[in-house]
Amino acid sequence: MTAPGSLDRSLRERAAQVIPGGMYGHQSTALLPDGYPQFFSGGQGAHLTDADGRRYLDFMCAYGPNLLGYAHPGVDAAYIDQLRKGDALTGPTPAMVALAEAFTGMVTHADWALFCKNGTDATSMAMVTARAHTRRKTLVLAKGAYHGAAPWCTPRPAGTTPEDRANQVFCTYNDIDSLEAAVARAGDDLAAIFAAPFRHDAFVDQVEVDPAYAHKARELADRTGALLVVDDVRAGFRVARDCSWSAVGVQPDLSSWGKCIANGHPISALLGNDKARAAAASIYVTGSFWFAGAAMAAGVATLKLIRESDYLERIEGLGARLRHGLAERASGAGFGFRQSGPVTMPLFLFDDDRDLAKGFAWCSAMLGRGVYVHPWHNMFLCAAMTEADIDVALDAAEASFDDLKRNRAEIRPAAKMAFLTAG
Ligand SMILES: *Cc1c(COP(=O)(O)O)cnc(C)c1O
Repeated sequence: MTAPGSLDRSLRERAAQVIPGGMYGHQSTALLPDGYPQFFSGGQGAHLTDADGRRYLDFMCAYGPNLLGYAHPGVDAAYIDQLRKGDALTGPTPAMVALAEAFTGMVTHADWALFCKNGTDATSMAMVTARAHTRRKTLVLAKGAYHGAAPWCTPRPAGTTPEDRANQVFCTYNDIDSLEAAVARAGDDLAAIFAAPFRHDAFVDQVEVDPAYAHKARELADRTGALLVVDDVRAGFRVARDCSWSAVGVQPDLSSWGKCIANGHPISALLGNDKARAAAASIYVTGSFWFAGAAMAAGVATLKLIRESDYLERIEGLGARLRHGLAERASGAGFGFRQSGPVTMPLFLFDDDRDLAKGFAWCSAMLGRGVYVHPWHNMFLCAAMTEADIDVALDAAEASFDDLKRNRAEIRPAAKMAFLTAG
């Protein structure tokens, strides 16, 4: 098994002194299999280079931001051009209006856009907009869905109060009865129904949305006067060139976007329809960097490529090649290996692997062969990948399944699970 390189190890030691816990959030050491590097020096196209100079074919894509390839020349040229002219200025650049026009031109339900920096900003603004619109408090959310790391939604509640999460009612994703029951519990206080475009919770198989559930959410929002919010921060533009629920014919009132909308440059967005426009104009939302022009210019360039290139069809083709090839190799090696979610956002879980021991061991073996995959979070394909890259991943997968079968890989319960599942 590969160990992290010496530079990575020394960076971890230094970080342990000056960064609480050595690292935070989704890069916490405890969340990654053995041997995974924590520090990186660069990315080019579909490849990532760690601090020790090891190169990987990267199926995490920065946890979503990399859509067209790291260091995309066209997007980065737009970014750098605006950076040279001026980035964070006293007010926004013309790119802000161009970006709002591009979004509203592409996303069916959207009549306006507000820009911010992180996905959490966008989902939090959706919450506030819905409460301002309805003058009500209660949110209906699906259990286990991720909407960000603010006190009202963070999955690890240390440091938050019950009051931060007051006025929330939970349902089960895709379960119409539980959605109706949650809406009934909210009574005449329902402000918004939040929905993920499909179930992409960590640790469990991904599930596509049941169109009847999406239509029911729309109907319940209309019946109660609440707003329907689709959180497209992660899936946006990886399943459609529109809001993800347009594929099932449902248009939300609000949608939140982030991650890949400027191909890695820091910007996120809340999009809304005319019904929600006055409320969105009434809330006070801003940030020191929210008007910075370079990421907006990168967003304009990214959206143009999304509209005009075949990036989506290409990542769908590559994703299908990966899915079929992995299914063949896993069954050839005798493993029950579940692949779920859209082919452009795959998640892999082994059967009979409650403690993720097989998953962690297989991922470590893949990493040793230069392919960066994740044992419990969905992954992403980017348009810089080629069929040859997918074939490299399939060869690595075949050899890694073989390692597991012949006990060449160390399979032991991930001690990490306690951390992962702790409140
Ligand atoms: C990542 C994510 C967020 C939060 O976005 P940040 O940029 O990390 O704040 C919200 N919702 C979903 C579905 C996400 O995947």
